[in-house]
Amino acid sequence: MREESTKRRMTRQRRIILEELRMLRTHPTAEELFQIVRKRMPRISLGTVYRNLDVLCQSGLVLKLESAGQQAHYDGDVSQHYHIRCRRCGKIEDVYPEEVNGISDPTVCRRDYQIIGWSLIFEGICPDCSEDIVAENSN
Ligand SMILES: [Zn+2]
Ligand SMILES: [Zn+2]
Repeated sequence: MREESTKRRMTRQRRIILEELRMLRTHPTAEELFQIVRKRMPRISLGTVYRNLDVLCQSGLVLKLESAGQQAHYDGDVSQHYHIRCRRCGKIEDVYPEEVNGISDPTVCRRDYQIIGWSLIFEGICPDCSEDIVAENSN
């Protein structure tokens, strides 16, 4: 029972994955992130990226954004914020609490969980796609 064996070691690969993810504001999928980190670590595999992302999510250092029928997206910003997804192009952007009205202090009743956070994904059509729709309809 030595201390090193119980502590979760931050491997070099994991550190680089986290560094790169934190620099992005695009909420990449594992594959998109893989394409980025392989520039720094040419021999890394997609499976390794997935495994490290899992560990980072479990440690609370990375947020995984999942919804049915979609690939998971990852976020290196774990401060309290929400997301908005374009239904047309699938892009996910950040929405900060000060931009949201009417959801300030929700409480969960009827469950014995200690609530430590919550996430919310708004859905809409992004400005780029809205322009496309207008352009298509005027043709
Ligand atoms: Zn869009
Ligand atoms: Zn985010």
